[in-house]
Amino acid sequence: MATDALQKTTLRVEQLGVSSQAGVDALFSELRSAADAEAAQIRGPESLEAFRVKWLGRRDGISSRISENWLKPAPPVMKKFVGAGLNQLRTALEASVESAKNSVADIETGPPIDLSLPGIERPVGTSHLIRQTYEELERIFLAIGFSVVEGPEMETPYYNFEALNIPEHHPARDNMDTFYIEGSGGHLLRTHTSPMQIRTMEKEPPPVRIIVPGKVYRRDNPDATHGFIFHQLEGLAVDYDITFCDFRGVVDYFVRALLGPKVKTRLRPSYFPFTEPSAEVDVSCHVCGGSGCRTCKFSGWIELFGSGMVNPAVYGFVGYDPKRLSGFAFGMGVDRLAMLRYGITDLQAFFQNDVRFLRQFP
Ligand SMILES: [Zn+2]
Repeated sequence: MATDALQKTTLRVEQLGVSSQAGVDALFSELRSAADAEAAQIRGPESLEAFRVKWLGRRDGISSRISENWLKPAPPVMKKFVGAGLNQLRTALEASVESAKNSVADIETGPPIDLSLPGIERPVGTSHLIRQTYEELERIFLAIGFSVVEGPEMETPYYNFEALNIPEHHPARDNMDTFYIEGSGGHLLRTHTSPMQIRTMEKEPPPVRIIVPGKVYRRDNPDATHGFIFHQLEGLAVDYDITFCDFRGVVDYFVRALLGPKVKTRLRPSYFPFTEPSAEVDVSCHVCGGSGCRTCKFSGWIELFGSGMVNPAVYGFVGYDPKRLSGFAFGMGVDRLAMLRYGITDLQAFFQNDVRFLRQFP
């Protein structure tokens, strides 16, 4: 139908058999419908220009053709009606072009920017509970002269085992089911942060006072208290005059700073290849005060971390003089500390990153 209307503009009015105002109006009405339908399809600057040329183009635009074919040769009585119809059509076409220009500009640049609108809110995250615990532990030890060092998570067996007095076939290796890295020439994921004791003493002359925060890896089946990644804090102090009393004093200071002034400590004999003597540090239960509850398994005591005086054999690996130097070392599970402190019963909560859990520790 639109095509019919356009074809009619190639003929003269009397050839179309039109001889009244009503006939002329009907012709223009047909053209207006065709033009409106096409204007609605304009989607970009190119289709807008095509529309303008087709309908308003000077040389062969439809309005020029009407002027040429309908208006000029029309009998005088019809000229008035054709002229009026053509003027109305041109006005309508120009209005269509103008409005299409605006909507094309909107498509290209988007709506005008309202600078008074509020900005897009970016939610602010918080530190993970493990990170928060590390920061607190670091603050406690920095206050008494320790400094923080960090080291590689991929280690050699030498730093992870041998230099810590754990030779091959030593039974202590069995307790630390190790991830070995295929194709790495025997490298492994460190099973504890203790390799940094060796790396630090190798590089620095005594005295040494460091803590080492970091992730460690062991082959284990994940459950509420086990995982194959966990977080440790290692400590090492070596100097010319460090005694077991200094060690005990630092343990007491640390436990009170972390868990409160009323908490008591006790040392239980233990065994680690890199300390001699070795001790487990127990603290009186901070939940029940020592009378027995579920947290302390009704013993009144909670096992907190392993420690001891540095085994003189270790000094041999780093060129320190074991006759003149002494020191102590400790290693604690940061996940376990955070669980105890906040009453968290599932270790996996630290790794699942469920925001409903994380938001409880802003
Ligand atoms: Zn208790």
